[in-house]
Amino acid sequence: MRRIEKFTFGVGDRFAHQAEAQLRALAQINEQGVEVIPVWNKSNREHLTIGSEPQTTRSAADAAVGNLGWSKAHYVDADHINLSTVDRFLDSSDFFTLDVADAIGKPCSESDIAAFMSANANLVGTHNIEGIPEPVEITRETMEATANKFLGAVLSAAEIYRYILDKKGAEEFITEVSMDETDSPQTPSELLIILAALAQHKVPLQTVAPKFTGRFNKGVDYVGDVVQFEREFSDDLAVIAFAVKEFGLPDTLKLSVHSGSDKFSIYEPIRRCLAKTGAGLHIKTAGTNWLEEIIGLAEAGGEGLEMAKDVYAKAYEKRAALCEPYATVIDIDESKLPSPEEVNGWSSEKYVATVRHIQSDENFNPSVRQLLHVGYKIAAMAGDDYLNLLKKYEDIVGKNVTENLYDRHLKPLFLGSA
Ligand SMILES: [Zn+2]
Repeated sequence: MRRIEKFTFGVGDRFAHQAEAQLRALAQINEQGVEVIPVWNKSNREHLTIGSEPQTTRSAADAAVGNLGWSKAHYVDADHINLSTVDRFLDSSDFFTLDVADAIGKPCSESDIAAFMSANANLVGTHNIEGIPEPVEITRETMEATANKFLGAVLSAAEIYRYILDKKGAEEFITEVSMDETDSPQTPSELLIILAALAQHKVPLQTVAPKFTGRFNKGVDYVGDVVQFEREFSDDLAVIAFAVKEFGLPDTLKLSVHSGSDKFSIYEPIRRCLAKTGAGLHIKTAGTNWLEEIIGLAEAGGEGLEMAKDVYAKAYEKRAALCEPYATVIDIDESKLPSPEEVNGWSSEKYVATVRHIQSDENFNPSVRQLLHVGYKIAAMAGDDYLNLLKKYEDIVGKNVTENLYDRHLKPLFLGSA
């Protein structure tokens, strides 16, 4: 098994032009004495929307690593894959996020359930888990009910894992299991039972993405009960530490926070929990970078600003279709969306202040920001017209990408706001 580093940070680069700007932000946090390793991730859905191949992510990441002389590790994550989509990621990825959320609740055979119950019989009982205030109680009934809900997902993870293992070899990749794209958060006892089953089926996962309480909307802050989030996050860390000891899972196993970009209000709680326990973290922040391209173009003025306005106008026109696949992860208030005519009259400053994620700015408009977030297809359709502007205004766009990652993400997460 290839061992993952303690802190890893997922970045996304929809148009494969910002890898260097992203790596510069990672270099800055490493210079501050915290080792944080970059992981470039891009899901099959993004590749399909843009019409790109996984190899382009690998090439851009490797080029950035070479150009900046980055000497630490870096990874390319096949994000949210399953058995039907993994193939085209096999050559270019060394990190695989096995998405088994769809298999939650899928029935599995009675013999699988029986095998799970007998292999994990000692889980029935009361567990005092360090870090969780109340003991975790598991009865035969709750264990069987949990197995019925999650064992299908675990078996599916095992199947995808073995497929990748067979094609690549154990030393060549990191395994993540994700169950975040589902309706309700997993409880500590559910997570414990899921990890027991993954260990039983020999999936050496090193990161796990559960579903957390609250809304993780695209490109905007966390919406939910921050205190409840911190409690859940802390419980999950405790369960993971327990599972590593009890089930023989890799001691590098850590939590993975998906849709982690821009969730400013939970960064301090996360940092606190990590500091208290010494736990590691993987966090994915893919989508925020594309918005920095739009902000950078708007800030550049001229053709850049025109492109930014054009992307808004087309996104506004096609908003129903663009929002549809993301319906559960955005909250756009239509009445807060300015008309394209109005936006066409905006200055660079006004456009930038509307979109840049500074909540205290009176111009900041989360509805515009979310609409643009899901509007990357518009830029993909503009093709070379868009990409040429990214090259023309490379410096100002790159500066926005680096500052956003460093100042608003890496610093509060790993250094704190002080
Ligand atoms: Zn996810």
